[in-house]
Amino acid sequence: MPSSWLLITNATVVDGAGNPPVAGASVLVQDRLIRDVGTHVTREMVPRGEQVTEIDATGKTLMPGMIDAHCHMTYGESRSEEEIDLYTSPVLRTLKAAFTAQKVLRSGVTGISQPGGSYYIGVGLREAIRDGIVQGPRMTAAGRYISTSNGLTDWYPDSVGVPEGSIGIVHNTLDLMINEVRHQVKNGVDLIKLADSPYGNFQAFTDHEMKVLADLAHQLGKKMTIHARGPAEVKAAARAGIDWIMHGNIMDDEAIDLLAETGTPLVPTLLLLSNAGDFGHLVGAPDPLREGMKRMLERTGDSMTRAHQAGVTFALGTDSGFSLTPYGVWHARELELLMDYAGLTSLEAIQAGTSNGAQMLGLAGEIGVVAPGMIADLIVVDGDPVADIRVLQRRECIETVIQDGAVVVFDEEKVARSWPHERGIGYSIGDLTYDVVYGQVDPADPANSAVADGVEVHDLDTSEEAQDLVSALTHRETGARVMD
Ligand SMILES: [Zn+2]
Repeated sequence: MPSSWLLITNATVVDGAGNPPVAGASVLVQDRLIRDVGTHVTREMVPRGEQVTEIDATGKTLMPGMIDAHCHMTYGESRSEEEIDLYTSPVLRTLKAAFTAQKVLRSGVTGISQPGGSYYIGVGLREAIRDGIVQGPRMTAAGRYISTSNGLTDWYPDSVGVPEGSIGIVHNTLDLMINEVRHQVKNGVDLIKLADSPYGNFQAFTDHEMKVLADLAHQLGKKMTIHARGPAEVKAAARAGIDWIMHGNIMDDEAIDLLAETGTPLVPTLLLLSNAGDFGHLVGAPDPLREGMKRMLERTGDSMTRAHQAGVTFALGTDSGFSLTPYGVWHARELELLMDYAGLTSLEAIQAGTSNGAQMLGLAGEIGVVAPGMIADLIVVDGDPVADIRVLQRRECIETVIQDGAVVVFDEEKVARSWPHERGIGYSIGDLTYDVVYGQVDPADPANSAVADGVEVHDLDTSEEAQDLVSALTHRETGARVMD
């Protein structure tokens, strides 16, 4: 049977492995694999009589498709934890996830890892994409996060419990956690996600629990990642052999050295913090949440810069799926943030967004690099991302998406559409106090936390304690839950 050939000519090739770009190069793809790359590659390398599709990439960049190692396809662009957990049936959540997968792919993200989501929607979606039923990036998936009553996802009072639709499952004993790992593996997950303390102010799992669970996952041939924002849980996770770390916002030198020594990659997910802090005011995010996110981002920048200097490996992750991080829009912004906050060069950022994510797809050494023998998940970019990383954020600059060696054809009307989860019941963002209506409240004064015309949100008290990001983020009465 003849091969299917694809030839991209005269491109500037950015290989994703960190090598300097090569101008005037061509890439030849045979079926799903890259056959050859370089200035020597010509059409004559295709056997006589076989069909070849040609793309003229003069003035354009050819690079690997991006890999987002932290993308929640079941979150449905939710505005609150309640919308993530309670609203929208599992059936409709699944259909929406299938719909939005094409938006992610359209943005040049050809691979994602879902570190947790409701039900086993991620596993089903992965299969549907693999079988060509659904258009979307190739994917690996965890099931529900495994958490404790002191970690993420036990948001509600004990009288309510953890709803069936929650993205997490809460267990407070090792036996029950082991039981959950076994069930998740049976149900087809690629990785297990643990969720430690929400804001990194304490370690929620014991060292022993982490070690036993990581060993079990590995014994069963699966990977493990963890939501770890603070130094204690980062260190414990690296020692337990957890495969990569999500967040790592606040790390002491010991934590950083451990990541560097063990070669444990870090997926910071700066995007959610930055989008909330920089743009949240445009969509009514409460001021205390925005301020808390900003402070967290600044502290994170310090940890990230030191980690980069120590040689820690970074990968692209965005926490896409919230209303502040809608699908297919902001994934590439994380690369700009890795440059701004961790000090990566543009080539290093591209490497973080491509080859460094291959491991999270279970395809290390097989994807994320433009080189012979690699899987041909590629993008043609109208622009030079090495000179200006932001071109990757502009949909019109992502000219062509190639998946498994074939050019993907999109329904552009569909990929422009948004299909969020059913909305929770809200009445206002702030409280309509007597002062708001009749008092001496200046809406222009930031102290009054105006987030929309005439709407006041309770500000945090200005005590020393409130300056601390943890206390800011945990103030529940501000009317917003901070998100993973
Ligand atoms: Zn997340």
